[in-house]
Parts: sequence; C-alpha cells; structure tokens
Amino acid sequence: MRLIFHGPPGVGKGTQAGKIGLEENISHISSGDLLRAAVDAKTEIGLKAREYIENGLLVPDELIVNIVANKINSAECEKGFILDGFPRFMEQYESAKTFLEPTAVLIIDVPKEESLKRILKRAEIENRTDDTPESIERRLAWSREKTVPVIAQYTTLGLTHTVNGVGEIDEVEGRINQVLGIS
Ligand code: AMP
Repeated sequence: MRLIFHGPPGVGKGTQAGKIGLEENISHISSGDLLRAAVDAKTEIGLKAREYIENGLLVPDELIVNIVANKINSAECEKGFILDGFPRFMEQYESAKTFLEPTAVLIIDVPKEESLKRILKRAEIENRTDDTPESIERRLAWSREKTVPVIAQYTTLGLTHTVNGVGEIDEVEGRINQVLGIS
C-alpha cells in the first residue's frame, strides 16, 4: 500500500495517517516531521530548512524532495507507506513522479473554521513554533490554492478518494478504512 493523505493543515491527516500506519504496519511519513527532525538533528538539510519552517514559509522544493525521496527509497518503506504533507505543489508532484507511484490518494475534507480551531488547539498542546496566527493563515492559504492542481492530476489518474473529516477520530478512521478497503 502506497498512500498519500492530502488536505490543508488541521484536517487530521497526521493523526489518521499515524493510526492507520500502525494498524497496517506500514511507515507513516510526514514531510513536516521529517523536516523538524532534520532541524533538531542539525543536518545539512535541517540547517537550511530551519528559517523557513519557523516562519511558516515553504521549504524550497529541492530540500523537501530530497528528504522525502531518501525516506521512500529506504528499507523502512519497502512494505509501503502513508505519506502526509507531500507533494503539495506541481513542481513537487513532477519531481516525485520518479519515486512515489502512489496506489491511492486520500483527501480529508474539513471546513476552514474547523481546521483553524484544531490548529489553535494543537498550538497550545504542542507548543509548535510555527503555529502562530500569521503562520497558520499563510499555511492555510497556500494549501488551499496550490494543492488544487496536484489533486486534479491524481484525480485524472483515478487515484483520489475524499472523506469527510468532521467527527470523532475513530469515526473518521472508519470512513477512511472503508474507502481504502481495509479493515
Ligand atoms: P506540516 O507539519 O505539514 O504542517 O509542515 C510544517 C512546515 O514544514 C510547513 O509550514 C513548511 O514550512 C514545511 N513543509 C512541510 N511539507 C512541505 C512541502 N511539501 N513543501 C514545502 N514545505 C513543506
């Protein structure tokens, strides 16, 4: 199973991808988590990415493509993966064609006000430095506009499934499992 979970910040992609990854015994890869780990470990990519992440700006494509490709091509992903947060833009989609080959793309749909509420709650709990109101607004704006053509491409390929992300975590997971045909 090679899955991509899509949707703006705050729709519950990470939560659902983590749960389903554990249950299906496949790796959950979040581009944001990979970047944050690289920043903490002060790797070459991490040092370059830090400024962008802390200001809620997009990390340059070559950095993000590199870090995701390394992970997907590693032994950890041999049995499959659930990727969240990538590819977000057409440039990334084009670069990822050579290594990604998803079997399904899941879109979690949540009204904007609800995702904003969830991000603000997460900001309180996790104390993420990029969860300031300005950064959140910026990330929601670029997610809405720029991911549209990427999703359109995957839809043309017949890979997309949309699921309503409003409700209890288990309820949403049930909907996802149903469209993906897993138990
Ligand atoms: P996330 O955890 O998905 O909300 O991502 C946190 C931050 O990581 C974003 O605000 C960006 O700075 C960076 N990031 C994550 N994924 C990408 C991506 N596909 N392209 C560019 N930047 C990204």
